[in-house]
Amino acid sequence: MTPADLPLLPLPTRAELPAEAPRLLIIYTGGTVGMALNRAGALVPMQFDRLARKMPELLRLPMALTLVSLAQPIDSSDVTPSDWLFLAQLIGHHYAGFDGFVVLHGTDTMAYSASALSYLLEHLGKPVVFTGAQVPAGASRSDAQRNLITALEVAAARHPRAGTVRVPEVGIFFNDVLIRGNRAKKVESQQFAAFRSENFPPLARAGIALDFADGRIRLLPGAPLKVHTALETNVAVLALFPGLAEAQVRAVLGVPGLRGCVLQTYGSGNAPTAPWLLAALAEARQRGVWLLNVSQCEEGRVVQGKYATSARFAALGIIGGDDITTEAAITKLMFVLGLGLDEARTRSLLMQDLRGEIVPG
Ligand code: ASP
Repeated sequence: MTPADLPLLPLPTRAELPAEAPRLLIIYTGGTVGMALNRAGALVPMQFDRLARKMPELLRLPMALTLVSLAQPIDSSDVTPSDWLFLAQLIGHHYAGFDGFVVLHGTDTMAYSASALSYLLEHLGKPVVFTGAQVPAGASRSDAQRNLITALEVAAARHPRAGTVRVPEVGIFFNDVLIRGNRAKKVESQQFAAFRSENFPPLARAGIALDFADGRIRLLPGAPLKVHTALETNVAVLALFPGLAEAQVRAVLGVPGLRGCVLQTYGSGNAPTAPWLLAALAEARQRGVWLLNVSQCEEGRVVQGKYATSARFAALGIIGGDDITTEAAITKLMFVLGLGLDEARTRSLLMQDLRGEIVPG
C-alpha cells in the first residue's frame, strides 16, 4: 500500500465555496474520536463515513475539505514507526494540493506521532495539526466536533495582513489549546484537557477568537519540504528508579544491535553513583550505543555536572537532553540515527534544536 493507493473523498459543503477557500486534507487514522462499542462492550475504531455523519457542523465550514482514511484505522496504542513514515509520505504526496493537514489520531500516542512527524517533515511550510477526542464523536458529550472544527480553523489560518501561513508546524490542537507537537505530553485520560505543553508555552488558544502567539511559532522555511524516509527502530527507554538492578540495566543496554537509549534520570539529569551503573553505561557507549539523558521531571532541564551524580556523564559521551520530553527524545533518536551519519554529525544533531523540541542550555 502506498499513499497514492488511498482514495481521496471530497466532503460535501452546504454552500458554494469561493475559489480562494482553504483546501484542507483530513487524515483519519483512528483513535477514540472515531470509535464505537463492539459486541463485547469495548471501544474499537470505525470507518470515517460513520464519523462524518455525527458532525454535521463540519459541512458548514467555508473550507474545501477532503478526507483520506488509513486502510485500517487503529487505536493509537498500535501505532508503529512504519505508520509515521507512511503518514509523512502521505503528507508529502498531497503537499502541493492542500493548504493544510489535520490528522485525526488517538490521544494515547499522539505526542509521539506528532514528534516523529515534526522531524520527518523538514522545512515544513504548511500546518499539520493533530487532534482527536476523549469521547467518541457519536456520544452526546463528545469533544470531537469542537476539537476537529477548531483544528481545521488553525490549519486554515493565515496572517491577517501578509496572508502567509500562520502555523507552519506540526502541532496538537486539543481542548482549546494549540501545542507544538514535539513539546506535548498526554497528561489526562479522564478529563477533556488531555495534553500539556512541557517547557514551552502554547502556540495558540481558542476562546471566542483564535489567539495566536505568533512570536513563538516557527518561521516559514526558506527551502522546499523534505520528507525523510527512514527511522532507526532499535532504540530503547531506560527509566531509573531507586532499586533498579544491574541485571535490568544490562538487559536493556545489551539488546543486540541497540543503537540508542533514552535514560530517564532524576531531577536535572542525575543518576545513582553505583560503579556498576557507570560501567554499564560506559560499555554501552563503547559498543556505539547513543545515550540521551532526559529528566523524569515535567518541567526544567538536564544540566549534566550540576551535581556530582552526573559529573561523569559528559566524559562518557552521554548527551544531555536539555528540556526535551521523552516522546520527543525517543523519536529524535529514531530520526537522527536513521539518517546514517558519521559520529560527529550524529552527535551534533542530537545536541541541536532541530524542530523547536529543545531550547539548548
Ligand atoms: N486508546 C485511544 C487511542 O489512543 C485513546 C484516544 O484516542 O483517546 O487510540
